[in-house]
Amino acid sequence: MKFYKIKKSNIDKNGRGLYATKNIKAGTKIIEYVGNIITKKQTEISDKFDNSKPIYLFNLNKRYDLDGAVSWNTARLINHSCSNNCDYEGQGLKIWVVSNKKIKKGEEITCDYGFGYDSDYRQFPCKCKSINCCGYIIRTESRWRINKKFKKSIKINR
Ligand SMILES: [Zn+2]
Repeated sequence: MKFYKIKKSNIDKNGRGLYATKNIKAGTKIIEYVGNIITKKQTEISDKFDNSKPIYLFNLNKRYDLDGAVSWNTARLINHSCSNNCDYEGQGLKIWVVSNKKIKKGEEITCDYGFGYDSDYRQFPCKCKSINCCGYIIRTESRWRINKKFKKSIKINR
């Protein structure tokens, strides 16, 4: 039995998300983040990654990226949360979505998209409604730039 099912998301009202189908222990590989392995050169010349943040693009190593914007990558449906219960973990040329805490059956599976803080951060509001939410999709380490309270609470509330 798979660890997840696809359902209408509570975070992204217009979209779908993945939900735990059972209780999951911390450190569990939940789903592989699959896609096309492309060279950095291909990333550079492709206009696919020009306009917005590369939400589905992962750095694998010095030479290769993984483009997860493909229909067969179910893990692309995972939403961002400021209190994410999973992380993306690279293992060689593979990326796994791994739980970073216990997840209860029925909870939405979430990751930190890892966006840096820059001038266009307002384009990406976050609706995760968690106690940690800074209002925008920005990686943990940069949230204090939006609100000073995150400087100290980063680890405490997780
Ligand atoms: Zn949030």
